Amino acid sequence: MPQNFGTVVVGMGIMGSASLWRLSQQGIGVLGLDSGAPINLLGSSHGGSRIFRQAYWEGGYLPILKRADKGWRQLQALTDRRLLNFTGGLFIGPVQSGVVPKSAATAKAGGVAHRQMTARQVAEDFPAFNLLSNREAVFEEGAYTIAGDDVRLEMLNQAVLNGAQLRYGCRLEKIERVAGRLSLQLSDGQTIEADRVVLATGASLAGPLIPDLADIVRPSSVPIYWFNYKHRQEQHFTDFPAFLYELHDGRLLYGTPQIDRSEPGIKIGFHNHQQSELDLANQRLPVNKAFTDEMAECVASLFPRLLAQPYASKKCIYTMSPDESFLMGESKEVPGVYYVSACSGHGFKFAPEIGDYMARAVQGEPFAEMAPMFAVERFDKGAR
Ligand SMILES: Cc1cc2nc3c(=O)[nH]c(=O)nc-3n(C[C@H](O)[C@H](O)[C@H](O)COP(=O)(O)OP(=O)(O)OC[C@H]3O[C@@H](n4cnc5c(N)ncnc54)[C@H](O)[C@@H]3O)c2cc1C
Repeated sequence: MPQNFGTVVVGMGIMGSASLWRLSQQGIGVLGLDSGAPINLLGSSHGGSRIFRQAYWEGGYLPILKRADKGWRQLQALTDRRLLNFTGGLFIGPVQSGVVPKSAATAKAGGVAHRQMTARQVAEDFPAFNLLSNREAVFEEGAYTIAGDDVRLEMLNQAVLNGAQLRYGCRLEKIERVAGRLSLQLSDGQTIEADRVVLATGASLAGPLIPDLADIVRPSSVPIYWFNYKHRQEQHFTDFPAFLYELHDGRLLYGTPQIDRSEPGIKIGFHNHQQSELDLANQRLPVNKAFTDEMAECVASLFPRLLAQPYASKKCIYTMSPDESFLMGESKEVPGVYYVSACSGHGFKFAPEIGDYMARAVQGEPFAEMAPMFAVERFDKGAR
């Protein structure tokens, strides 16, 4: 007779870890499974840093961001390790178009503390940034840089302390409804049962486990680079906040300062550029030279204090939805399976709140009331 675990969360990236934490906080017995190891280089959530910002140029997310901010602070209060680094966030772009006016509009409407800055003011306060002609900026004082791996591991710590179980190196191969229960076939040959499953499998949401998202989710490979300072003085994030830097042709760079010694230097990537179709067999290969050269050219002109050649680079995964927003819901094909993510390269910062949605969903609260904007039905033909 297969063991019944009640609730199982599959995928221990940031969305699954946050779901596990939130479920365990509510006293729900839960098992977390992942096919990889706790630091999984073939997921989207590994690495030392992620940006949290509320002056959100993408629009429409502020209420969720405010609750996510509370969630991050709640997690921070549970440990002495520093999880949140108050670096501020500097968002730069062409005058009166794109990221800067949209970020400022969100901040103004939502009461997010911010400062609009001219190129000259940026040169005085943040000399590590070179503003090309016709650029302006918004500085969000309260933005911060999240210690990426550490927050995820802390969520898992807390979940285990609350009674959750964890299994790594164990892949969910098939899930089906049998006699009113969910039957999960695992790669170690075992079959377990559950009443509810949270599927937080990142790029694998495009795969065959549930068909609901197969034609909607598009996993892509995207490179990320690390840069050293030209002068080797000890750097601090007061002169290098987290940032977005929009170029005139729409390419958008993002970056984070060094927040701990394990990941030295400045991390920079393109948010909306240099993406290619995901082929897992290629993920460990070096980033191609044309991409690296393009990034080095940008760094040479935008960041005068950095060496233009990255000292390291690697490929990461974005799981994109057609409108670059998120996907959450209950599978129509396999009821009792709740899927989450397609976080389109900007979902990490929302994780404590998304985990809370998943915990409420498995207890019967309808997504249509909690998070209607993330319903997959928005891509139905009639809805477009
Ligand atoms: C380089 C980079 C920088 C980013 N920067 C930011 C940022 O600054 N701010 C921000 O908000 N967001 C950022 N993002 C986006 C954010 O990191 C992702 O949206 C988020 O990590 C997605 O997490 P996930 O849990 O959905 O997926 P993943 O992290 O990919 O987790 C999925 C997990 O499921 C497991 N799995 C898959 N299939 C199975 C199976 N069948 N059985 C068992 N386990 C399975 C995998 O092993 C994996 O561990 C960034 C993303 C990248 C790649």
